[in-house]
Amino acid sequence: MGFYRIAKTFEVEYAHRLSKHPERCRFPHGHRLRIEVVVRGRALDDNDMVCDYKALKTLVLELVEELDHGLGVSSDDPHRLMLEEMSERLLVFEGVDPTTEVLVKRLFDEISGRLTPGRKVVTPSGVTYTVPQGLQLERVRVWETSTSWAEYTADAG
Ligand SMILES: [Zn+2]
Repeated sequence: MGFYRIAKTFEVEYAHRLSKHPERCRFPHGHRLRIEVVVRGRALDDNDMVCDYKALKTLVLELVEELDHGLGVSSDDPHRLMLEEMSERLLVFEGVDPTTEVLVKRLFDEISGRLTPGRKVVTPSGVTYTVPQGLQLERVRVWETSTSWAEYTADAG
């Protein structure tokens, strides 16, 4: 038996600094991230959908907004305090540099924590959706540039 997959894509302006990087990535710099969220389900809901795109968008958008114009740094970054003074939107990653791999895993965990079946989602227009039973987060992919991405995928099965 197969399953359906649907995807929603988000774009956001984001900066980071990779404190351990031997080359230019150790300097604070920005990316326009493209974030693809893929979910799957074996059955369609009462509206004949895997999950309404609006519901998916509402659930993920809050997390994407946290990244918007944020600056990702490691908690161990020797310049952390100085960067904290520069940006109120510092995104601290505990003990790791905010590589695309680290970011995509963080997003995967956060999104999967929100996609709990039965959860009510109220869209900005005031419509309430319910996360369908059996809905699963399959993968999140983050494009850091037009030629580079990192992905975190759920276990098969
Ligand atoms: Zn970078």
